[in-house]
Amino acid sequence: MKRNRYVHQFAELIPEHLEQGVLYVSLTYSTTVHLCMCGCGHEVTNPLSPQQWKLIFDGRQVSLTPSVGSWGFDCESHYWLENGEVEWAPAWSRKRIAAGREATRRRIKEAIDDPPRRQPEPDSNTAKKSLWARTRSAVGRRT
Ligand SMILES: [Zn+2]
Repeated sequence: MKRNRYVHQFAELIPEHLEQGVLYVSLTYSTTVHLCMCGCGHEVTNPLSPQQWKLIFDGRQVSLTPSVGSWGFDCESHYWLENGEVEWAPAWSRKRIAAGREATRRRIKEAIDDPPRRQPEPDSNTAKKSLWARTRSAVGRRT
């Protein structure tokens, strides 16, 4: 059954037995793990890094950004985890899924090929902005 709410739990180590509806956050390992919110029982791991997911903690609830897309599973679930609420996205077409995956691969590859510390400081952020806008529309993430 699809869940509409979740709670979070900060843990140094991700427990062996995961509970439904709990987003486990390990700051030590910069990762989050939860059971797919559709109830299929698959473990979903979302590593926290500049190219992958960001965790927002407002002191009460945590949110993950961008959205979580489990296209490797049969359920192909896609949702946002925001302030304790699971917001389900409409099913994506195969084409958009492929585009989203490609964009993620590209971001990771760019980061590996071109580590930030070797990049010169940009004069303006115009170029950065347009790349950001392109990436956003490609993966359909929401802020
Ligand atoms: Zn699922």
